[in-house]
Amino acid sequence: MDVLLKVDKLFGGYDKENVLDDITFDIKKGEFLGIIGPNGSGKSTLLRLMSRVLHPRKGRMLFEGKEISTLKLRELCKRVAFVPQDTQINFSFSVWEIVLMGRIPHLGRLQLETKKDFTIAENSLSLTTSLELKNRKIDQLSAGERQRVIIAKALTQEPILLLLDEPTSHLDIGYQIQILDLLRRLNHERKLTVVIVLHDLNLASEYCNRLILLNEGRIFKEGTPEEVLTYQNIETIYKTTVVVNKNPISSKPYITLVSGERLCQQN
Ligand code: ADP
Ligand code: MG
Repeated sequence: MDVLLKVDKLFGGYDKENVLDDITFDIKKGEFLGIIGPNGSGKSTLLRLMSRVLHPRKGRMLFEGKEISTLKLRELCKRVAFVPQDTQINFSFSVWEIVLMGRIPHLGRLQLETKKDFTIAENSLSLTTSLELKNRKIDQLSAGERQRVIIAKALTQEPILLLLDEPTSHLDIGYQIQILDLLRRLNHERKLTVVIVLHDLNLASEYCNRLILLNEGRIFKEGTPEEVLTYQNIETIYKTTVVVNKNPISSKPYITLVSGERLCQQN
């Protein structure tokens, strides 16, 4: 598989604090890559660096072979869309206005949207089951509704690389599966490359071809779900006891959490 984004010896953080330490990995075209790790391990920082919200301290990121910082932001936004962890918007835009903003990188200066742009935006709302929210105000939605709308906006950009930071954290299990199934379908049918931060290790196991396990700003382990989601790795990094079985339907690793108190009772 061709490399879409090469992350090479990357260091990054905030003010005086360095968060990411010497991160190197490739994102291949068409893959569904999961980034997992405990709170504060640097997952969001990594996605902010890859989407150019944050500038690296050191290191290189090559997007289709070109240093990402040299690309015009408009050109980058035609190819890469980012769904941040915090989707709160403090302006009273309508959902329709927000989703249409996804077309901005594709429009010329002062150029208005055409029928094609409206169709793409409407289709994205429909794909994320948010069409009925079209005329609502974004600041009057529940967190889960807002999360679906922000994903619709990202799809409206028609990216080839979609970066998502915990995009299902506010969704009920029905919507979680619906959004992840949608991402998998777009990954298969449109060859959309997906990089997703997920807290839920079972969802990461189920949907991702490859996982990167971050810990304290470094890559602890990288590989298939089977290679990464071993009980030893999980217990070492998350400091909690787990049992790893197989999901009876997909045969992917399935993690069962074990209460510390119950373990004490058994011993
Ligand atoms: P994760 O997404 O894995 O939970 P983050 O990348 O958000 O972790 O955070 C990594 C570290 O960076 C944490 O120690 C956090 O406190 C710090 N951090 C995150 N965002 C900021 C910020 N805007 N300013 C300063 N420090 C931050
Ligand atoms: Mg985060």
